[in-house]
Amino acid sequence: MPARTGREYIEAISAAEITVEIHGERTTGKVAEIPAFKNLIQTYAALYDLQHEPGLRDVMTYDSPTTGERVGMSFLQPRTAEDVVRRRLMMEVWARSSNGMLGRTGDYLNAAIMAMAGAADWFAQADPQYGSNIRNYYERVREHDLLLTHTLITPQANRSKAVSQQAEPFLAARIVEENDNGVVIRGARMLATIGPIADELVVMPSTVIRGGADDAPYAFALAIPTDTAGLRFLCRESFDLGRSSFDHPLASRYEEIDAIVIFDDVLVPYERCFVLRNPELCNGIYSETSAAAHMTHQVVTRTQAKTEYMLGLVSLLTEAIGIEGFQHVQEKTSEVIIAVEIVKALLRAAEADAAENQWGLATPAWAPLNACRNWYPRFSQRFPEILRQLGASGLMALPTEADAFGPGREDVERYLQGAAIDGIDRVRLFRLAWDTCLSAFAGRQSLYEYFFFGDPVRMAGALVASYDRDPYKARVSALLADDELAIEMLHAEPVEP
Ligand SMILES: Cc1cc2nc3c(=O)[nH]c(=O)nc-3n(C[C@H](O)[C@H](O)[C@H](O)COP(=O)(O)OP(=O)(O)OC[C@H]3O[C@@H](n4cnc5c(N)ncnc54)[C@H](O)[C@@H]3O)c2cc1C
Repeated sequence: MPARTGREYIEAISAAEITVEIHGERTTGKVAEIPAFKNLIQTYAALYDLQHEPGLRDVMTYDSPTTGERVGMSFLQPRTAEDVVRRRLMMEVWARSSNGMLGRTGDYLNAAIMAMAGAADWFAQADPQYGSNIRNYYERVREHDLLLTHTLITPQANRSKAVSQQAEPFLAARIVEENDNGVVIRGARMLATIGPIADELVVMPSTVIRGGADDAPYAFALAIPTDTAGLRFLCRESFDLGRSSFDHPLASRYEEIDAIVIFDDVLVPYERCFVLRNPELCNGIYSETSAAAHMTHQVVTRTQAKTEYMLGLVSLLTEAIGIEGFQHVQEKTSEVIIAVEIVKALLRAAEADAAENQWGLATPAWAPLNACRNWYPRFSQRFPEILRQLGASGLMALPTEADAFGPGREDVERYLQGAAIDGIDRVRLFRLAWDTCLSAFAGRQSLYEYFFFGDPVRMAGALVASYDRDPYKARVSALLADDELAIEMLHAEPVEP
């Protein structure tokens, strides 16, 4: 089956028997009819349609090596630096189409599965079957253009104790038994974004939490269809309140629901397992396979689109109310310009220094990507702050569509006009700014940017531990040694002639 259309995605997700709990109701099947997911499903469908847009064919798809049909470019296993760029050009189309607001477009996890399949021999260390499993899974996902969600994190219950030391053994999802058919999993994992509207759930280790020998029953990597028997998605409340795109311009399009994943004795066939009972392999899964580099390549591509959006929004907002000439406004706008350039430069550096990994895949350079994934979670918190500081009361003087096009229209036109914009357009613009910096949707976006790739505090620790600082230490040591020599010479006893 070639790259999917939006309609094919909607048909597949409508036919799946996914069990979801949201707003007090538990349903199985027909997720496309649940109001909280309807708009998001349409948004995701539009992404799939972009794969068939005339003029984008060669950007979005390539010839499958097994069937010759056109499949999604984010599945391409890059052999050259040009392939790495081809991957990014595709990812850019999806990222720009949503201004970076969607964190879980298919390319995010396609990148991970693509890299892991390239490193199939790494999985085969424990058992050759696992190597075949990951390769077969990648091919299946590629050929059916499946949408994946993932869950990595154990419930927060008590973070001062290891997963195996929690109050209940089955709090965090763990292996209950292994039988002739596969492994049975019971317990919970946090937080599958887009879980209820995805085709497949990938259950992977955390990017930052290291497991020890006692954690073996919790240490696995596997994948199952989201409608597997016993699997449930317990959702948070939706921030898409069913309002128009005038009122909630972002939440009405891009509200990616998050869900707790509950495994009620879920049977996972062995052919869907990639690592089992192996904390050591779990600890290395992202770095050893280069999945981290390829996923971060996608993340930074999305980040670039989002930062560019922020610059456009800040610029239009400051022009709209005539504040762009003030110095502190320019200083704040410059922060966003600098962020755009930093992200672009890091992405470019990663691609310029792309090199073959030990499994033969061209891989973007990790150091600039790692710098970006450590810097952006913190810096991105500044965007909503800047918008709030510049938008001020304009972010609250915001009649709804019903008022702006109803009895309040005359007032809106007169009292909400801007320096370079009429009243209706100004409300439209400021509602967009509000949904970017103040609404529930905006709050979730900030939290997402801060945490989605792991705890930034522990990511910083990992960066420091892995970064080669020896050359820099050596230079400083050499300078100190020079000083020492100079001091020694200064204080040396004068030599008798
Ligand atoms: C909007 C959103 C969407 C997400 N989507 C997904 C998803 O799709 N799939 C998925 O798997 N995950 C997802 N996550 C989860 C994400 O991976 C985690 O939030 C992240 O890894 C941090 O883990 P935690 O939330 O359990 O925080 P915790 O680990 O519980 O941390 C809470 C606080 O305690 C501190 N802390 C805890 N332990 C330590 C320690 N050992 N050392 C130092 N400080 C510590 C942290 O620094 C932090 O300040 C999502 C998160 C968010 C917010």
